[in-house]
Amino acid sequence: MQRTDRRTLLKGGLLSIAGMAGMPSLSAAVEQATTPYNRPKLKITEVRTAEVRVHGYQVHVHIHTDQGIIGQGESTDAAQGNVPLIRSFARMLIGQDPLNIEAAFERIRTSGVFAGAQAGQYVTALTGVETALWDIAGKALGLPVYQLLGGRVRDRVRIYCDSGEREMIPGDERSLARIKQIQDLGFTAAKIDIDDAMDPARFDRVNWTASNSEIDHMLAKIAFTRENYPRSIDLAVDMHARYDATTGKRVAKEVEKFKLLWLEEPVPAENIDAMREVRASTSTPICCGENIYMRWGFREILEKRAADIIMPDFQKCGGLLEARKIADMAHTYYVPVAPHAVTSPIGMMASAHVCAAIPNFLVQEWHWIDSLDLWRNFVKEGEIIDKGFIRMPERAGIGVEMNEEAARKAQVPGTPWFEPVQTGRGRG
Ligand code: MG
Repeated sequence: MQRTDRRTLLKGGLLSIAGMAGMPSLSAAVEQATTPYNRPKLKITEVRTAEVRVHGYQVHVHIHTDQGIIGQGESTDAAQGNVPLIRSFARMLIGQDPLNIEAAFERIRTSGVFAGAQAGQYVTALTGVETALWDIAGKALGLPVYQLLGGRVRDRVRIYCDSGEREMIPGDERSLARIKQIQDLGFTAAKIDIDDAMDPARFDRVNWTASNSEIDHMLAKIAFTRENYPRSIDLAVDMHARYDATTGKRVAKEVEKFKLLWLEEPVPAENIDAMREVRASTSTPICCGENIYMRWGFREILEKRAADIIMPDFQKCGGLLEARKIADMAHTYYVPVAPHAVTSPIGMMASAHVCAAIPNFLVQEWHWIDSLDLWRNFVKEGEIIDKGFIRMPERAGIGVEMNEEAARKAQVPGTPWFEPVQTGRGRG
C-alpha cells in the first residue's frame, strides 16, 4: 500500500484549489453556488398574464420571483379561459421555490382532478405556467432549458412551414407565390390543408363523408403542390380530424403515390381504434395528437400502434417536461415526434428546447407566415428561424424575451396586460 504523508495530501489539496481557480465559470459556479447548503432559494412572488390572438388564442404567463428573475411561458389553442385558471393556480405557486417544477406541476394537476385537470383548458393553462418555471430555472442556473432537459442532441431544430391561410388552388397565381415564398425562406418541409367546408362538391355542411368529386379536389391540391415544390422539400397534408373513417381510409390510400411526410388526422383522434384502422389500411404515414394531452392521452395511441408519428402541442399538452415524457414514451415504440406549434417565438423556442433534447424528434411546425412582421418583432432577439431551422441559443432560460411594444399589437381587446393577479392572499 502506498504511504500518503501530510505533504502529499497538502500538495494534492493545493493542486485541486489551483484546478478550481482555473475551472471554467460553469463548474466553478456549480461548486460555489449550488450545494444544498448555500444555494440561495428563490421564491415566487407574482403571476401575471396577457392575452393575444394571432394564429388562434394565446395566453402569455409571467412568473415573478423575489430575486428579480421573471419567467415567461405561453399557452395556446385551448387558451381561452386560461386566465382565471392561472389565477386559481397562483395560490399554489406564490411562496414556493420555482425550481421544484415537477412538484409544482403535480400539485396543480392533482388539485384539479375534479376541475378538468385531465385535458383541455386546465392542462393548457398549466402548460403556460410550467414553461415559465423552466425559464426561471434556466435563468437562475445560467443554463439554456435544453441543458436541464437532458442536454441537446442537436444544435438546430428543423421547422416546417404550414401554408397558413393560403389554400392551395391548382394553377392559382397566389398559391404559386406562397409556394415560392416558403421555398425562398429556406424551409425543407411544408404542410397544406385539404379539408374544405366550402368545397362546391359538398352536399352537406355537417356530415363529413367526402364525395368522389371532393376527394378528386383534395388529390388535385396535393398534386399541384407536390409538383411545384422540388422533391427535396417534404410535404405533409392535414385533414383536421373532420372526416369519417370511410373517407379517411379512401384518402389515405389515394395519396400513397405522393409519398407524403404524413397524412394528418384523417379521422378524429378520440377514437383510437378508428385511427388504427386507417393506419392499418395504408402505406401513407399517419400523424395525430395535436389535441391530445399528457402521457395518459398518448398511451393508448402508442400501445395500439394507431399512429406512425405523434404531434403533441408542447404549448398545451402539459408543459416541457411532460412533452419530454411523452416523447420518451413514443421512443420506446420507435415513433417519432413532430410537435404541432402555432405560438409566438416564445412558445416556439420553448418547444424547440424539448425538440433539441429528444432523440426521436422529426420536425416542428411554424404557423405565422401570414403575420411575418409581428413574428419578426415579437421578441427582442428578432427572427429565430434561419433557412427553416431554429438554431438553439446558448442564452440562459428559453433564450428569447418578449418585445412588449410589438406583442401588444396582438392584444385581445379589453383584456388586462400583465397586471398583478389577485389571489385572495393579498397582491400576487
Ligand atoms: Mg393539424
